[in-house]
Parts: sequence; structure tokens; C-alpha cells
Amino acid sequence: MQCKKIKTAHGIIETPALLPVSAASYGVWDLWIEKKFPAPWDLAQGTVLSLYHILQYRKKEEILEKGIHKVLKTKKPVVIDSGGFQFMKKNAELEEEFVLGYQERSGCDIGMTFDYPILPDLSPEEKENRMKKSIYNSNLALKLKKNKKMLLYSAVHGHNPEDIKKYIKNLDDGFDGYAVGSLVPKKRDYNMLINVISAAKNEKPLHVFGITGFPALFALSYMGVETFDSWTYLVAAAFKEYIDPETLKRLRLRRVKELPECECPICRDYGLNDFLQSTSEAEILLALHNLSIFLEEMKNVREKIRENELESYILKKGEKNLSIKKAFMIARKYKGS
Ligand SMILES: [Zn+2]
Repeated sequence: MQCKKIKTAHGIIETPALLPVSAASYGVWDLWIEKKFPAPWDLAQGTVLSLYHILQYRKKEEILEKGIHKVLKTKKPVVIDSGGFQFMKKNAELEEEFVLGYQERSGCDIGMTFDYPILPDLSPEEKENRMKKSIYNSNLALKLKKNKKMLLYSAVHGHNPEDIKKYIKNLDDGFDGYAVGSLVPKKRDYNMLINVISAAKNEKPLHVFGITGFPALFALSYMGVETFDSWTYLVAAAFKEYIDPETLKRLRLRRVKELPECECPICRDYGLNDFLQSTSEAEILLALHNLSIFLEEMKNVREKIRENELESYILKKGEKNLSIKKAFMIARKYKGS
């Protein structure tokens, strides 16, 4: 296996890469835009924003007028996801023409088609219907796309390899990549997750939505997935949870007396008491610690791929975190078969 490069209008994303989700309607967002703290989109190789969050944000018009990069004050790649998953939870939907139009005008580097994710308890008819509508949107976006600088990824859904393969077969040729969703309820079912991802993997870049932890991150990197998005760094911080740099598990700060050693730039200047305050600043500092652990591990993964030592690296991490080992053993079995 090898690291790859995804070329975007705002530079290269070296893979595998974790792109943090920046949730526009979340309280801490403005402090980042005002550059009061280092922003997730500048610390990582790029960021993912959901149209669901953007449309609730007071700067949604400004993004169209000035472009998303000017509003975020960044020169790094920006991905705009259609927000299909969040709209599904609200029982709402958007027209693909609108989604694509917004993505193209915002000047984002990668746009993702509007999708209708599927949940495990849907009836077979409803599942089929939702998948058909998602495929229709993808093919429509491919036809209507005018902005040549923007890469277009088609969302892909399915809970088993057969559905995933059928889905991709129904997509027209010409997408720059694929983005697999509907895995949220399955995230701890590593067998299913890895089975679905191996069916979706082809020569085009593959993105996986909504990764929550290191077991899936390591196993899917090993499977050759190019990019992931995650907002666990932020959600964990909101719950006052600190990612342990050693075990890569989430620690509840209210239950610990002392923090483990951490060499990240935040922990050099701040400690337990700073993180425990109930202010936006405390939440941002904790989120930045969490993010720096995610990004450091992804950097290690790329380095170990280059040195051909990824497998032993993951197994070593698995000694302190059994879920990492469990997910990896499943991935290794699939890859070998
Ligand atoms: Zn730290």
C-alpha cells in the first residue's frame, strides 16, 4: 500500500487524511473564524463543512459572495458535504440543483452529492426508494456541474457488499471520488464496516463519513481509504472528554485527578483546570488537544505506510486499546482474502 495525493484547487491532500468537521452553527465557530485560536481547518490538511450547518449560519450569504475560503480565512482545501444525514434526522431534504449550485458558488474544493442515508430498520421498499433517489441526485449533479475546479464526489450507501456494488454500478462515469455513508449505526460493528468498505473500494479516492474513533481510523487506513471526516474532537470536548495520547481512549475529565503526559502544543501551556472551565475557550482548548492527537496519529500512519510498517504500528497501538486490535484483525482478514 502507499500514500496518495488528491489534487484540489487549494493544494494537495496527502492520504490517508482526517479532515475535521467544522460545524458552522456550533457555538465555538466564531472564535475560530476570528482567529482567536488556531483553527481546525488550518491545523489539518483541510476541513469538511456540512451544508446543513452552513444554511443555519448567519454568514451563509457572505460565503456565496466572497467564497468559503475568504470567510474561513484559509488557503487549504474545503469540502462541502450536502448534509443529507442531518437533513434526514430532521425529516427534510434539499434539491440537488440547489446543493450543487451552492457548492459551486462557494468555491469549495470538493462537493458531495445530496443523499438519502439508510437506516438498518427501514423496510426493503423504503431502502430501495432512498437509494434510487440518492443515485438520481448523483447522476444529475454530474450532468449539471459547471465548475471545473471543484471535484465532485458521489455519496454511496448500503449495509452490505451487494447493495454497495449495485449502487456504484448505477452511477455514471466521471465522479472524482466516492463517499460512503449510512455507516453511523454500524460504527462499532467492525465486521460490517470493513465488509462494506472493501466492496466500495476501487481506483477512485474513497471518503468515509463520520468516523468516531481510532479503531475504525486505523483499520480503514489499512484498507486503503483515502479520507475521513470526524467531529469527535469537538463532541468529546463538549462532554469534557480528553483523548488519552497513549491509549487513544476518551477520558472523562471530571473523573481524573491528573492528566496523562501529552506533548501537544495545547498541553504545553494548559492543563486539567483550564479544560474543566465551562467556557467556550475551555471547550476550544480541549477540542484542539483532541484534534492534535487525531492529526498526530494520521501523520504517523502516513509515515508508517511509507516505511512499510503500518501493520506493526497498529498492533503496537492495539496492545493498549483492544478495540484497535479487534478492528485491525478483521481488516487484515478481509484484505488477505
Ligand atoms: Zn495535548
